[in-house]
Amino acid sequence: MAERVLIIGAGIIGATTALALAERGYRVSVIDRADTVAAGTSGANGAQLSYSYTDAMASPKMLRQLKKVFLGRDPAMLLSSRFNSKLTGWGMRFLRNCTQSRSDSNTLAVLKLAIESRAIMHDWQYRYQFSFNQRPAGKLHLYRQVPDLEDAALRVALKNTYGVQQKLLLWDEAIAIEPMLEHVAGELAGVVYSPIDEVGDAASFTVAALEQVKALGGDIQLGMSVNGFVRQGKTCTAVKTSVGDIEADIIVICAGFDTARLSRMLGVSLPIFPVAGYSLTCPATPETPSVSITDMSRKFVLCCLGDSVRIAGLADLGRVAGQPSAVRIDALLQTARERFPLAADYNGEIHPWMGTRPMTPDSRPIVRSCGARNVYVNCGHGMLGWTLAAATADSLRWLVELEHGTWEMTGSWA
Ligand SMILES: Cc1cc2nc3c(=O)[nH]c(=O)nc-3n(C[C@H](O)[C@H](O)[C@H](O)COP(=O)(O)OP(=O)(O)OC[C@H]3O[C@@H](n4cnc5c(N)ncnc54)[C@H](O)[C@@H]3O)c2cc1C
Repeated sequence: MAERVLIIGAGIIGATTALALAERGYRVSVIDRADTVAAGTSGANGAQLSYSYTDAMASPKMLRQLKKVFLGRDPAMLLSSRFNSKLTGWGMRFLRNCTQSRSDSNTLAVLKLAIESRAIMHDWQYRYQFSFNQRPAGKLHLYRQVPDLEDAALRVALKNTYGVQQKLLLWDEAIAIEPMLEHVAGELAGVVYSPIDEVGDAASFTVAALEQVKALGGDIQLGMSVNGFVRQGKTCTAVKTSVGDIEADIIVICAGFDTARLSRMLGVSLPIFPVAGYSLTCPATPETPSVSITDMSRKFVLCCLGDSVRIAGLADLGRVAGQPSAVRIDALLQTARERFPLAADYNGEIHPWMGTRPMTPDSRPIVRSCGARNVYVNCGHGMLGWTLAAATADSLRWLVELEHGTWEMTGSWA
């Protein structure tokens, strides 16, 4: 009989993990404390399937920028005082990752995952035809400062050596790709084009993937919060929830930022730090760019999703999502309006949103066992959870099959 896998979290990571395991014949149950799926950070993120922009957050450039952040002079990044003590341990590890060599190796490790993700997503798309406003839109990164563009050029060269297409464009070349750039306000130093990047709505994908899990025999239970684990020796036999214990053979924690708290209950400390961000979804206009745009100086993205425009950005270090702060939402709105005045109907109905990026110090997600022989985590995807979800789901599925599968190794590897 197939083993029962219980997945905690019905966000994009829980949904893709559930799908990868259900496809291999596991009996999958997904539970979530919210009353709807994708109620957390997968709800209204930037919608970027950023297959070639995987640059690690910790870098020499970030090191130079930190002074401005600590002095509260960076409009895109804000340090929440509440989390300063927790930032210390995580921050030391982050600083150790700010060397050029570590930054490059973290960027390339995530790039490898992103390319794997793209292949799996295309395969799922071919087989299931999920509807999530997916488009191979390509992406243009706009740089307003020459030193930032020079830095980006080094990363482009690094990725090119690994066969990933990204290129520097002259302004008229960028306009040929996206004529709506004519309306962008302010001086630009240059543009990086990433033709293989795509856009798609993570929440719609989460819903569709979980429907497919159900079609493969799985079930989804909402409105139940996990608050502990039942252990017998080295095994967890059940999770304790707000509506009683649920038994399982294998447990996978995909609870976003809350994975850190749940793992501590199993004696495991994970380096996950909350970085809140915001988005606005507004009606599109005839001048909305069809290529996805990232404004690197203010660190926000803008893309067309069906008949809407999604604008997302800002980073509040140490902050966990709650009610979106009116001041930060207003800052995002004002910046987008100023820089891209015609790209969205800013006077139409606007849906503000806030989510928590679960960041690791090296920007690499964490897929591993966790404090018991049958418990795993798939978490810490930070800024790129939507992009990396399919690859980390596949890595987790591999791990489970290696440790709990019934197949045997033969031949020279045995
Ligand atoms: C502003 C912003 C823009 C972003 N843009 C992009 C982008 O363009 N591209 C990209 O690749 N990534 C982007 N990201 C990152 C991406 O959204 C996240 O990495 C990803 O959504 C994380 O998914 P998750 O499933 O781990 O977490 P979540 O979506 O938060 O899911 C975790 C789920 O676990 C549930 N849960 C938590 N604790 C418990 C518990 N104790 N019991 C039961 N259930 C529990 C929660 O209710 C939640 O539904 C962005 C993030 C932000 C904030």
